Amino acid sequence: MSKPFLPFALPEIGDDEIAEVVDTLRSGWITTGPKARRFEQDFAAFLGDAQLHAIAVNSATAGLHLALEALGIGPGDEVITTTHTFTATAEVVRYLGADVKLVDIDAATLNIDPAAVEAAIGARTKAIVPVHYGGLAADMPRLLDIARRHGLKVVEDAAHALPATSRGALVGTLASDAAVFSFYATKTVATGEGGMLVTRDAALAARARVMRLHGMSRDAFDRYTAEVPSWYYEIVAPGFKYNLTDIAAALGIHQLKKARAFQQRRAAIAARYDRAFAALPLVLPPQPPAGDTHAWHLYALRLADAALAGGLTRDRFIERLFAQGIGASVHYIPLHLHPYWRDRYRLVPALFPASQHAYERLVSLPIYTRMGDADVERVIAAVRGALAG
Ligand SMILES: *Cc1c(COP(=O)(O)O)cnc(C)c1O
Repeated sequence: MSKPFLPFALPEIGDDEIAEVVDTLRSGWITTGPKARRFEQDFAAFLGDAQLHAIAVNSATAGLHLALEALGIGPGDEVITTTHTFTATAEVVRYLGADVKLVDIDAATLNIDPAAVEAAIGARTKAIVPVHYGGLAADMPRLLDIARRHGLKVVEDAAHALPATSRGALVGTLASDAAVFSFYATKTVATGEGGMLVTRDAALAARARVMRLHGMSRDAFDRYTAEVPSWYYEIVAPGFKYNLTDIAAALGIHQLKKARAFQQRRAAIAARYDRAFAALPLVLPPQPPAGDTHAWHLYALRLADAALAGGLTRDRFIERLFAQGIGASVHYIPLHLHPYWRDRYRLVPALFPASQHAYERLVSLPIYTRMGDADVERVIAAVRGALAG
């Protein structure tokens, strides 16, 4: 009898999450309310920094949009980010009428290349959006130094990075303008859809809170009277509908409590893969610097040239994994290959040699907490089988 298909990703939703959602449903308050507030407080506490503002949103995409909007990014501006990411990282720049400057990655880490960032800075450049690819922190010390020297804002796409550290400090507490986490179904902490914008910048936080919900503010009224009637609000801008529901926040409150245990299980799976694959013609994912935490959202390996020499392709390799009942994926089809980005900015692969080279060889294997040890061994056997043909 053949074994059931092992999906590429699955969330781990426990009885605590289910009970909290049921409690929310019975409470009568199902949209943004006390649980979203508690999730924000828990999130700031998790990051361990009392200066942080945590703003719950209905996606990381929304959070990235709000952060860049609050920083004043608009028409005529340019924002630098990596080509090796999901389109959400870059599309938010276009929402604001600004332009995206895509740059290449470091071939070893697959994170944005600081040298390429510095070379891409022009008169219109306003911000850098690094992505912590797969859960390995980008080279933040260098990126923050570049930003400081050129007067640029930094908004981290931290969709993969809960929890990850850079030089021992948790992503979310670094000296950037903002960091944005994702709780999409496949992410390390999942609420179905959801995100968290964190910042130390009180003005950014205030603007994002207003723009998160239709540009609604009660601040003006607060200034004149202590007793604010509950029905009163003022619209101060054409805002968005980016608030997180209490149903999703109920999931998040309990997922967050497990985030460290989840990370440890993912790291154990990554370590098992590393040992099993050490002698195979594969380029294994980069390790974090000594003492740093990798969130291991992705285990993205690359087929080495020796594996491709016999005519094997990445696509054929993934087909062979699927044929053995193993889900796999590719992170990412670089933005420079997608028609919209390619055509708008006349991009060609030769501009992004490291990303292009990686893309043609990348395979993401299943890595999630619901995998048992037997599942991990099945993936290992399937990888060996796919390489052997
Ligand atoms: C998932 C993801 C996003 C978007 O997250 P959502 O919560 O789905 O909006 C942004 N950037 C990267 C790198 C992602 O992987």
